[in-house]
Amino acid sequence: GAVIGILGGGQLGRMLSVAAARLGYRVHIFEPGAHPPAGDVAHMVTCAPYDDVAALTAFAQSVDVITYEFENIPTAALDLLETLRPLRPNRRALAISQDRLTEKAFLAELGLAVAPYAPVKTAADLEAAIATVGTPAILKTTRLGYDGKGQARIMSAADAPAALAAMNGADAVLEGFIDFTHEVSVIAARGLDGSVAAYDPGQNVHLAGILHTTTIPAKLTPSQRTDAVLLAARILNALDYVGVMGVELFVTPKGLIVNEIAPRVHNSGHWTQNGCAVDQFEQHIRAVAGLPLGDGSRFADVVMENLIGDDIARLPAFLAERNTAVHMYGKPDARAGRKMGHINRITGRAP
Ligand code: ATP
Ligand code: MG
Ligand code: MG
Repeated sequence: GAVIGILGGGQLGRMLSVAAARLGYRVHIFEPGAHPPAGDVAHMVTCAPYDDVAALTAFAQSVDVITYEFENIPTAALDLLETLRPLRPNRRALAISQDRLTEKAFLAELGLAVAPYAPVKTAADLEAAIATVGTPAILKTTRLGYDGKGQARIMSAADAPAALAAMNGADAVLEGFIDFTHEVSVIAARGLDGSVAAYDPGQNVHLAGILHTTTIPAKLTPSQRTDAVLLAARILNALDYVGVMGVELFVTPKGLIVNEIAPRVHNSGHWTQNGCAVDQFEQHIRAVAGLPLGDGSRFADVVMENLIGDDIARLPAFLAERNTAVHMYGKPDARAGRKMGHINRITGRAP
């Protein structure tokens, strides 16, 4: 049978592995960290650093196609891997989303609205950026940020030195603060044949920079919903994308603003596991394996809640709730801020 190679063995890799197994594929995980959550369900795990050429080569040669569950894979490793097996989604999608500056430039080029932004390396850059972007603003490292890490708020120019220091010397981007009413995301997929299927947008609430809940359906007018889905499809087409993507949007009175894109299955798409016949994980495996996509329709209203750190102490209560599915990631220690699992509460039947 065919083998899917996945770079990264976190919870996303784990849930992708489950979906791949259900479709009859075997999964080989490549992950530098020991005891990855995906290791419990994949048929093979290579635990090696990304600069181990022999391990990367053997990994690639043992699989039919390579995909990934996180975007920060070193360039040299990708250079090697893509000479050996198809990489889906492709390099360009990955490169663009690895860097907030290239990401914003790409989105703006497509004609999509993004927050006003300016690149920042030095104190002088930051001063100039504040002059053009204004305050309040958010300074973000261009690379490697997730769950709100590598970000600093700038309420007034006086906050600039501390914000710059918080970047630890990394290249940064200053973004104007968007006065949004709420946040939504579109989880969409594009198949090898170019067909696109999108899920209904979800409404996202963050706590301390980390996704807390995703609620389906999102509060959107029919025309906003159409806008959200169409702009996601445009992004996928422009990248000749194959796989699932998460597109994070700010909803404002003036329209939708794209916050960022994630070239992978997305935390705000976890609700699909209990709201759709074909969830985002199966959809991604279908896409990268060259199978037809599911249509993305849903049969339920769902609220997904992330279980962070000692939220899992409330597991007995969640297990006792009606119409609530529990998804655990098998991580050994419930460190603060660590995503340990999530629950999907079915709150109604889709119309
Ligand atoms: P993720 O875990 O989603 O990858 P991240 O670390 O990449 O997060 P962002 O998505 O850029 O971070 O920002 C995290 C949250 O901070 C956003 O969901 C939003 O709530 C808020 N935020 C980020 N940028 C802006 C902005 N320009 N204006 C207003 N709020 C913002
Ligand atoms: Mg991000
Ligand atoms: Mg985000």
